[in-house]
Amino acid sequence: MTHLEAFLQKLPAGAAALISAPQNQYYLSGFPFEDGYLLIFADEALLLTDSRYVEAAEKGADPAFTVACPKKMSEAIGERLSAHGVTTLMVEEDHLTLAAKDRFEKALDGVTLTGGVSALLTALRVQKDEKELSAIATAQSITDAAFSHILNYIKPGLREIDVALELEFFMRKNGAAGLAFQTIAVSGSASSLPHGVPRDCPLEKGFLTMDFGARYGGYCSDMTRTVVLGRADEEMKKVYDTVLTAQKAALAAAASGVSCKKLDSVARDIIDGAGYVGRFGHSLGHGVGIDIHEAPRLSFTAKDEDVLLPGHVVTFEPGIYLPGRYGCRIEDMAAVRADGTLLDFTKSEKEMIELPWNC
Ligand code: ZN
Ligand code: ZN
Repeated sequence: MTHLEAFLQKLPAGAAALISAPQNQYYLSGFPFEDGYLLIFADEALLLTDSRYVEAAEKGADPAFTVACPKKMSEAIGERLSAHGVTTLMVEEDHLTLAAKDRFEKALDGVTLTGGVSALLTALRVQKDEKELSAIATAQSITDAAFSHILNYIKPGLREIDVALELEFFMRKNGAAGLAFQTIAVSGSASSLPHGVPRDCPLEKGFLTMDFGARYGGYCSDMTRTVVLGRADEEMKKVYDTVLTAQKAALAAAASGVSCKKLDSVARDIIDGAGYVGRFGHSLGHGVGIDIHEAPRLSFTAKDEDVLLPGHVVTFEPGIYLPGRYGCRIEDMAAVRADGTLLDFTKSEKEMIELPWNC
């Protein structure tokens, strides 16, 4: 079943849907574009864009879509709605701006705009099909290769931004269409910042945390490794071991039907129990797909009824952050297989690596 067919099964009878978020437009049509809308009826699917995209859309989009390039967008939408006799237009409550909603309401006489499309698409997108899983696996294999490469590249005198750029350049050279997100490479005292920005200054001895991902076939990967520049002291070893134990325990506990909240607490209890209460501020993990952060969340804030299901792709990324001193995070990305077991896409070494550091 195509993504459009799956969506049509959920579209309420008699309604049309207007898709405005580029990620959802890509999910449904298979064609990436920035300007325009998908307008979907039970028996007609339109990709409305401007002249820059028409030729590529005709070649690249799901052929179930008719590509059109209207001069006036809201007039064209109004004309199709009245041709279908549709008076309820479902829009993306998480994306369409109030200004755009006002504009459509003024232009579309007798049409009621309602939300609901974002929730519907979130529910569909959370469950990845084979093609999506294969794109994510390829994105992660490029990311794993970048980690192997960077271990041989890192040396005293390089800056954090050199490490980040080298990871990015390697991924692009090796098949990534782009980055999944801004690369993090933070060393020494800056490693205590979970989302620190790489600095224009030489790598500091101690922990170096690298969090990076590739984009392939429209899908993201996401991994983090923390390595040691020089030798780890006893407390650094304890921090690293605690994070690794927490991560392995959460991965081992994950399977179809397991509560997202429970998985977070499996990791958090280990970290808290080792004496680091309050030092793991963020959630255990998040869904990954077309967006780098999407449903489901493996979090202490997840609803009790949220459970992992086949087709879900999530990260497992516990960390310990000691402000002003250092921090450590280890992140893998995994999918729940059809048989309910977990498939870890991340193949990179995660036992502690100490790199020689003579300075
Ligand atoms: Zn990450
Ligand atoms: Zn992540």
